[in-house]
Amino acid sequence: MHILIVGAGIGGLTAALSLQKIGLEATVFESVANLRPLGVGINILPNASRELIALGLQPSLDKFAIRTRSMNYFSRRGKLAISVPCGEYAGYNWPQYSLHRGELHRLLLETFKQRAGADRVVTGHRLAGFEQNKNTVTANFVAPSSGKPIADVTGDLLIGADGLHSITRRCLYPDEGAPVYAGMVCFRGAVEGPPCIDGESMIICGDKRLRLVSYPISKTRQEQGRSQINWIAAVPFNTDKPQEEDWNKLAEPEKLIELYGDWQFDWLKVPDLISATRQIFEFPIYDRDPLKQWTFGRVTLLGDAAHPLVPVSSSGAVQAIIDGRALACALGKHNDPLAGLQAYEADRLKKANQLVLASRKNGPDEVLEIVRNECPEDAEAIHDYVSRDRLQSVIDEFKERAGFGTEALNNSPSYTF
Ligand SMILES: Cc1cc2nc3c(=O)[nH]c(=O)nc-3n(C[C@H](O)[C@H](O)[C@H](O)COP(=O)(O)OP(=O)(O)OC[C@H]3O[C@@H](n4cnc5c(N)ncnc54)[C@H](O)[C@@H]3O)c2cc1C
Repeated sequence: MHILIVGAGIGGLTAALSLQKIGLEATVFESVANLRPLGVGINILPNASRELIALGLQPSLDKFAIRTRSMNYFSRRGKLAISVPCGEYAGYNWPQYSLHRGELHRLLLETFKQRAGADRVVTGHRLAGFEQNKNTVTANFVAPSSGKPIADVTGDLLIGADGLHSITRRCLYPDEGAPVYAGMVCFRGAVEGPPCIDGESMIICGDKRLRLVSYPISKTRQEQGRSQINWIAAVPFNTDKPQEEDWNKLAEPEKLIELYGDWQFDWLKVPDLISATRQIFEFPIYDRDPLKQWTFGRVTLLGDAAHPLVPVSSSGAVQAIIDGRALACALGKHNDPLAGLQAYEADRLKKANQLVLASRKNGPDEVLEIVRNECPEDAEAIHDYVSRDRLQSVIDEFKERAGFGTEALNNSPSYTF
């Protein structure tokens, strides 16, 4: 069997590595000509880190990623609402990792090339369409620069892991239209600085009006007593026509520094963090309405192509990794590949769709809305107004719904086959 994977992102490469591990042949086709380590920070929760560990990647992750210790929710005035342990510190059998997306991407890419052969990743091939019949599927590729046809490749299955603007998805749902704008733009950057809190933890501060998330992403810097601090500043922009989303679009810092001007806390001076950052990227946030079906015969969707979501609770990369592993496991278990694709969809679609909808409702970050609505802005002690237990229950409920409650996860098998 030969499986064509479209898109060498986090999801496509995890699927490729997982298929290779169980002896199934896959080739990844990527639109970009030269894959470079792009992006800034990303978080891998235990439900996904255990899948990367099952792929033998733990020694590498431990070389460059931070094992995240806790998540700390702060009010708009910098007062601690709740601190929640993460990963192994919360009793999971696996760590939570915070790292640079580019490093994770490079690790997946290089490991797959090493294990399967460099010729299994074909760059400069943009999917334009496909046809399938009873026995095969043929992908039509064009050159990204000219749009001219360059190759038709035939295989047994086609996996669309081609991200938010998936052509695979467009072919399956030609009338779907554009992604849904969430009314928010995220500014993102990474900068070296002194460790914030304990140098191993995440913070989230503010509310729906303005919100800052930050966490350290470099083990090397940590070993030097410093931090590579990744930050994301979310700003609501209510416009009908947000700019085109481009992960590499650079932003001007001035407006941002003005918006966050008085965010001067004992534990972090936000304007200093922003102004020290050399490159700031801006990215409008989109998702898509859940689909009823991902699999059509020999073709299925995976990762952001299947279920792009508003990035609360680090779900984008995590869900793409889980999809990749679930797909390989389902194909490994079924002799009939079409039944394998159906089993993958039956396992993943409902869970992923629930998460898309829960993320629209703010996920665990809802604790900050409770603080905003129920505490005076200048409250010194949040717990005089809202109990810790109440906030904890919002976070726990989301974890259960998103499939990573501690006990449930520890007691369920990972996608090994
Ligand atoms: C350049 C880049 C930078 C990012 N930076 C961050 C970040 O800093 N923080 C964060 O949280 N998330 C970031 N993300 C998003 C995050 O990686 C994804 O949301 C998540 O990992 C889901 O992964 P995915 O594999 O489904 O999609 P993606 O990671 O988006 O990968 C999709 C891949 O498919 C390729 N592709 C698209 N169309 C075609 C086509 N027609 N034919 C062939 N290939 C195609 C794309 O070039 C890309 O490599 C970034 C994504 C990209 C592509």
